[in-house]
Amino acid sequence: MSSLKRGPFVAGNWKMNLGLGEARALARKVVEAGPDFGECTIVLFPPFTALGTVAGAIAGSAVGLGAQDLFWEDQGAYTGEVSAPMLRDAGCTYVLVGHSERRQLFGETDGTVNRKIKAALKAGLSPIVCVGETLAERDGGRTLDRIDDQLALGLADLPTGEIGRIIIAYEPVWAIGTGRTASPGQAEEVHAHIRGRIRESYGNESAACAIILYGGSVKPANSYPLFREKNIDGYLVGGASLDAGGFVDIAREALRACREKT
Ligand code: PEP
Repeated sequence: MSSLKRGPFVAGNWKMNLGLGEARALARKVVEAGPDFGECTIVLFPPFTALGTVAGAIAGSAVGLGAQDLFWEDQGAYTGEVSAPMLRDAGCTYVLVGHSERRQLFGETDGTVNRKIKAALKAGLSPIVCVGETLAERDGGRTLDRIDDQLALGLADLPTGEIGRIIIAYEPVWAIGTGRTASPGQAEEVHAHIRGRIRESYGNESAACAIILYGGSVKPANSYPLFREKNIDGYLVGGASLDAGGFVDIAREALRACREKT
C-alpha cells in the first residue's frame, strides 16, 4: 500500500455516541457538504456498531471511514475484540490507535499501541497514532519527553517504509473534551518536535510528507489559527464532530488556512 499524501486532513471521532439512524443522518450531512472540501481529506470514526451503516451512507463519496480501535490478532477466542482484517472488511481504511481515553480508561500501553499499529499496517489500514501529555507532565516540563517515549515505543521496529502510512495525532490529554485548546504556539512546538523525530529516524522525505494532526477541543473558531502553523496538517475532532455543520466548518477553516499557507 502506498504512502499517504500530505494535505489537510480532518477526522471525526464520534466516540461512544449515536444510534444507527443518527449515524446515517450525520454521515449523509457530511457527504452532502463534501463538494466544498476540495483537497481536504475527511474521515469519520463511528462506533463499531455503526461502521456498516456509515459505510453505506458515504459510499461513492470522497469521505473515508475509520474505526476507533482494533485488536492485534487477526481472529480467535478474544471475546469482544475486533481485528484489523474485520475492519477492512467493514470498509475501513483508517483506525485510531492509542487514544488517551483508551490509555487512561482501558489500560492501553505503548507496547499494546505498537502491536496494534503493526496489525493495522499488515491488514492495509492506516493507523492514526495518538500521543500527548497529561497536565501534570506539561506543568512538570516533561511534555517533549513524554512524546518521545510514546513515539519511540509505539513506533518501535516498524517494517521499512511503513512510516509513510502512519498519521500521528498530537492530543494533549488536558485539552480533550475539556473545552481547553492548546494555543497555536503550544501545538506547533510539539508538532515541529514530532516532525523532527520522524526526520531523525526515517529521513527528510518521510518528515516532509508526514501528516501530523492536532486534537483537543477543536472548533470552527480555532481551526484557522491552528492550521496556520507550519507543522499542523489537520485535526482529530471529538465533540465537535457530532454536529455536521460545525465539523464541516472546521474543515472549511482548515482549507482556508491551508490555501494561505502554501
Ligand atoms: C478526541 O476525541 O480525540 C478529541 C480531541 O476530543 P475533543 O475534540 O472533544 O476534545
